[in-house]
Amino acid sequence: GSTIGILGGGQLGRMLAVAASRLGLRSHIYEPMASPPAADVAHRVTTASYDDAAALAAFAASVDVITYEFENIPTAALDALEALRPIRPNRRALAISQDRIAEKDFLTGLGLTTAPYHAVNSAADLEAAIAAIDTPAILKTTRLGYDGKGQARLREPADAPAALAAMNGAAAVLEGFISFSHEVSVIAARGLDGSVAAYDPGENVHRDGILHTTTVPARLSPGQRSDAVLLAARILNALDYVGVMGVELFVTPQGLLVNEIAPRVHNSGHWTQNGCAVDQFEQHIRAVAGWPLGDGGRHADVVMENLIGDDILRVPALAAERGTALHLYGKGEARPGRKMGHVNRIRPGKI
Ligand code: ATP
Ligand code: MG
Ligand code: MG
Repeated sequence: GSTIGILGGGQLGRMLAVAASRLGLRSHIYEPMASPPAADVAHRVTTASYDDAAALAAFAASVDVITYEFENIPTAALDALEALRPIRPNRRALAISQDRIAEKDFLTGLGLTTAPYHAVNSAADLEAAIAAIDTPAILKTTRLGYDGKGQARLREPADAPAALAAMNGAAAVLEGFISFSHEVSVIAARGLDGSVAAYDPGENVHRDGILHTTTVPARLSPGQRSDAVLLAARILNALDYVGVMGVELFVTPQGLLVNEIAPRVHNSGHWTQNGCAVDQFEQHIRAVAGWPLGDGGRHADVVMENLIGDDILRVPALAAERGTALHLYGKGEARPGRKMGHVNRIRPGKI
């Protein structure tokens, strides 16, 4: 059978490895940190840094295809791996999603709408950006941000110096503040044969910058629902993408705006584990392994809730709840803000 190489051993890598195993495939995780969540379930784990050329080459030689659970993989490591085995999703998808400006240039180039944006590398840039975009606005580092980290809000122009200082000298982008009614995301997949399948969009609520719940179905009109799915398909096709992608959207009276894309399985797609015959993890493994895409039709209404930090203490009570599926990541220490697991609550009688 074939072996799927997975860069990153966090909870997403763990759930990908479980999905590979269910399909009779093997998984080999590459992760710099010792004993990551995925190590419990993967067939093989390499603990090595992304500058270890020998470890990267041995890893690539041991697998048939390489995928990843996070987008910030160093370019030199990708070059070394790609010389030996295919990387799916491809390098262009990674490069675009690693940089918020490249991402927005790409999306607007496709005719999609994003927040207004302006590159900021200095105080003068920020002044020009505020003149162009106005406040309220959000300044974000162009690279490496997640869970709302590397962001500063500007309520008024006077907030500029503090916001710039919060970037710590990193390249940044100013985004106009979108007064959305709610946030949704589309989890979509594209196979090696070019076929596309999208899951029903989910509605996302964040708390302290971290995803708190995803609810399906989302509050969307039939027109908005088809817009969401069609724009995701347009993104995947334009990138000649293979795998699962998460597309985060703002819902506004003027239509859907794209917030950001993630070239991987996505936290807001965890509901598919208990709402669909083929969940996002299996769908991703199918795509990167060159299998046909599976049936992602939704068979239940679901609310996914993340268990963050001390939420893990609620596990005994959650374990006794009816209609609730627990997914725990086997992480030891429950630090504040750390994703420890999630629950999917099936809403009885609803679809
Ligand atoms: P993730 O963990 O999803 O990768 P991130 O750190 O990349 O998060 P964003 O998705 O850019 O950050 O922003 C986090 C949240 O902040 C968004 O889901 C949204 O609630 C809010 N937000 C971000 N950009 C804007 C904007 N331009 N206008 C209004 N709200 C915004
Ligand atoms: Mg992000
Ligand atoms: Mg986001």
